[in-house]
Amino acid sequence: MTARTPAPFTADDYRARMERAAREAAGAGLAGLLVAPGPDLVWLTGYEPAVTERLTLLVLVPGRDPELIVPALEAPDAARAAGAPALALRDWTDGKDPYAIAAALLAPDGRFGISDNAWAMHLLGLSHALPGSAYASLTEVLPMLRAVKDAAELERLTAAGAAADATFEAIREVRFSGRREAEVAADLARLLREHGHTTVDFTIVASGPNGANPHHEAGDRVIDRGDMVVLDFGGLLGGYGSDTSRTVHVGEPTDEERRVHDVVRAAQEAGFRAVRPGAACQDVDRAARAVVTDAGYGAYFIHRTGHGIGVTTHEPPYMIEGEERPLVPGMCFSVEPGVYLPGRFGVRIEDIVTVTEDGGRRLNTTTREMVMVD
Ligand code: ZN
Ligand code: ZN
Ligand code: ZN
Repeated sequence: MTARTPAPFTADDYRARMERAAREAAGAGLAGLLVAPGPDLVWLTGYEPAVTERLTLLVLVPGRDPELIVPALEAPDAARAAGAPALALRDWTDGKDPYAIAAALLAPDGRFGISDNAWAMHLLGLSHALPGSAYASLTEVLPMLRAVKDAAELERLTAAGAAADATFEAIREVRFSGRREAEVAADLARLLREHGHTTVDFTIVASGPNGANPHHEAGDRVIDRGDMVVLDFGGLLGGYGSDTSRTVHVGEPTDEERRVHDVVRAAQEAGFRAVRPGAACQDVDRAARAVVTDAGYGAYFIHRTGHGIGVTTHEPPYMIEGEERPLVPGMCFSVEPGVYLPGRFGVRIEDIVTVTEDGGRRLNTTTREMVMVD
């Protein structure tokens, strides 16, 4: 089974994104945005070049057409990007100074938002070419730029979620006991691709005591009967991310394992129910955390409740105490509480949720009951 492929984004889609970005930059008091290859550039232009020492830089200055500084040898590729018709390409050949080209486009004393993943060498080159300029993290100054998804983006995230769910339905049928975590992780990666993912970003298989480490990926431990196993997997499909977790048990669980799983499931439900327009991001974290804390496991819920998802699998908004920004229809993020008992086991349950006009909608819909595997 492969997911249906949504229609590609057009130059008009990218033009609208770049116009909005420039408008928001002006609203934030910036002289412009400087975007290096990476997720921001993909989102704004559809162009995804290799990241190298040669400067590629999208320059968005409010009130001016977008310009892309690009190495001459890569200009043909840039010209084929879906957003290229909305851009003026300015190519430069080896031996020329690309920072001087950028400087000529920019206010000498401007303050610019620059994408977080721009290399330091490029930022330093710009700042030497424009000694009076200043720079701020694009994510810090415009954290919500990519956070609210439109209908076409939501369609892609929904397709990615459905493919991740199909992956879970398939993995629960495979053999766990007697196999190494890494083998089950390889099954997950293969299944994600079979269901339409082009990129697999993570395939966590954390069995027994490894489940108590939220960042455990997958290793040589042989899974045994009696193990809880945290599965957390995702990647990109149609350019948009999936990310879901379920915790399964090999054979019959103990009463305590059932109890902890029930607590996490109730916490995940409470977090989901807190999702509605106007609620603060931190309200989602508080709702989920209150359930875990009331059950006596608060000290073992050691991470934030969720993160945004879009053209990357981790981005703003973050569901964390202190994040007071309001939820807006179209935002998409994870709700993923967990309990981690050191040396023993862990449980995490994660769905991607989107904010609707009157609440939330899950993009992952596999059962959140504990699934018993062989
Ligand atoms: Zn057990
Ligand atoms: Zn996850
Ligand atoms: Zn996640």
